[in-house]
Amino acid sequence: MTQESVGRILVVDDEERIRQAVRRVLTDAGYEVFSASDGVEGLAQVEQHVPDLVLVDLMMPVMDGMEFLEQARRRYPDLTSVVITGFATVEKAVEAMKQGADDFLAKPFKPNDLRLVVGRARARAVALQNLSIEKSRNRALVAAMGNGVLVVDQAGETALANPGLARLLGSDPESLQGMPCREVLPWPEVCGCLELAMQGVLPVSEEGRRQVCLGQGDKAIHLQVNCAPFHDSRGRAVGAVAVFDDVTAWSRLDELKNQFVSTVAHEIVSPLAAVLGQMQNLGQGLLGPIEERQKAVIDRARERLQSIANLSKDLLDLSKIEAGAMGKASRLDLAPLLREAVDMLEDRAREKEQGLTLEIQGELPAVEGVAQELLRMVVNLVSNAVKYTPAGGKIGVSARAEGGGVRLVVADNGLGIPPSEQPAIFQRFYRVKNAETRHIPGTGLGLAIVSRVVESHGGRLEVASTPGQGSVFTVHLPSAPE
Ligand code: ADP
Repeated sequence: MTQESVGRILVVDDEERIRQAVRRVLTDAGYEVFSASDGVEGLAQVEQHVPDLVLVDLMMPVMDGMEFLEQARRRYPDLTSVVITGFATVEKAVEAMKQGADDFLAKPFKPNDLRLVVGRARARAVALQNLSIEKSRNRALVAAMGNGVLVVDQAGETALANPGLARLLGSDPESLQGMPCREVLPWPEVCGCLELAMQGVLPVSEEGRRQVCLGQGDKAIHLQVNCAPFHDSRGRAVGAVAVFDDVTAWSRLDELKNQFVSTVAHEIVSPLAAVLGQMQNLGQGLLGPIEERQKAVIDRARERLQSIANLSKDLLDLSKIEAGAMGKASRLDLAPLLREAVDMLEDRAREKEQGLTLEIQGELPAVEGVAQELLRMVVNLVSNAVKYTPAGGKIGVSARAEGGGVRLVVADNGLGIPPSEQPAIFQRFYRVKNAETRHIPGTGLGLAIVSRVVESHGGRLEVASTPGQGSVFTVHLPSAPE
């Protein structure tokens, strides 16, 4: 079996004896060795074999070692080289290394010296090659990406703009090279984000993400931008990269979906309310006497219609909240809003003989929010507590100032939620289905609305629940800026 080559080496030396000795030692060590007796022949061999490493004598006829190295480097700039020299020309070897040779070997040398120097140079050649492969792979990757990519250096100047970004900006990648970020991008907030990334002070909640828009109206392109720093080997940020993702199609789809849902829901809500009203009149005998059996059928039909009406209302509200159409944000005192929500549900709690209490501890700081959204949030939490707590149970709503905001708690001693279901209850249409909840009507949208409202108010939502013992929903809302 022939040994596989561990590297290609070219020896350029006018002394036949040296060439042969080097060839023997290095071939035994597993290298593939080529040789040339002067610089001109050496250059031809470089062209033909593209060696990983050249060993070159400095003093040669026709073309000396220095001239050879210079010309070979012009063709392959990262060619690794070892200079072979006699005792008398150590200065020349030093000179050659200053000009980029990687090591030198003084004649006469022992096979072991040769193996050592070549091994070292070969390791360096491999490292350089890996580096250049990685560089080329990254360049190809960035150039082939459909997304826009901008790399800025410490001074905030463009180190690289890929064709994807150039296409978005309507220019060519080369013309952007070296230009300040603020002249390349029409969005100062993205440049600001890149600067923050480099300073290592990106707010964790934003994680360097920005939404920007190019153009207007139907032609607008919506972009999601992610900014992140990159570091040197000592961990210092030496630049930052921004990746631009065209999310126009998603934004349009989202808009369309919201429009569709709100139109459909809106078209359903009013006629349903009218039908429900008429059926109530029918059921109460206001339009003439009805039998027990007829009343039972009307009541069942009303129940079904009521659940469609609830679903339409929830869908409509959710799409309004997502579109920011529930109302304008203002500085609010939560206390009256909590009283209103509790008042709205008092009758239902009384019907189930539940104790429903409200406790506001001390003064609450004002919050900045949309009153209708916050009211909906509290009503949903309290109505769930009423719904999922058996008759005779207890529901407590409390609020107090905490950590520069308000901490609102809705607690009940009802059915509780199995731990495995807790992560899913805030998803749209998710309902816990078991023997106890099966007959309780709902849309699965109540907590999705709560979570959306909390999120849009910059708050935090937590649930703690034990099946058979009850649930505690806690909302933290930040206080309004002074
Ligand atoms: P639904 O319309 O089903 O009430 P929600 O989104 O409001 O929808 O709630 C999702 C699920 O979470 C409910 O189906 C219910 O099983 C569970 N859940 C919500 N609140 C409570 C609570 N206070 N106690 C027990 N289970 C609850």
